Amino acid sequence: MTFLTSPTERSTTRDHPRARDAQGAARRRNDADVRGTRLPATFDVTAEMEEWARRNTPDVAQSATDAFRDYWRARPDPEGRKADWLAAWRGWMRREQATIERQPGYRGPARQTAPIAAIRIPVEAMCRDHRGHRAATCGLCRSERIEAR
Ligand SMILES: [Zn+2]
Repeated sequence: MTFLTSPTERSTTRDHPRARDAQGAARRRNDADVRGTRLPATFDVTAEMEEWARRNTPDVAQSATDAFRDYWRARPDPEGRKADWLAAWRGWMRREQATIERQPGYRGPARQTAPIAAIRIPVEAMCRDHRGHRAATCGLCRSERIEAR
């Protein structure tokens, strides 16, 4: 028995179900590379991420990751897709740190806190009776005056 197919009907690897599946998988992988993926359902802070945050974004609260998750879950496609969620998280944390550092009164990361510089008073301005006190504002002299009344 002969089985004739016309050239247009001839089966090719392209049309083979398995080949088509493989091509589909490759295409899907490629799509993920190009368009990214949604935030994984479980996006947890690992020990490595915690260590990174301690070194690079020491002032950012842990709750920043909750905000990150909510923000990206609420975001529609295509902006809600990222090629690298770990990099996206690091970028979020850096922006949070930068925002904190721009706030007035920011005194530097806790880990870099310098000892309060010793207050230097010129000798001519120093109280003659109380070392380290300014004559003009010497609280010890004032309290002695009050006691002497
Ligand atoms: Zn004094």
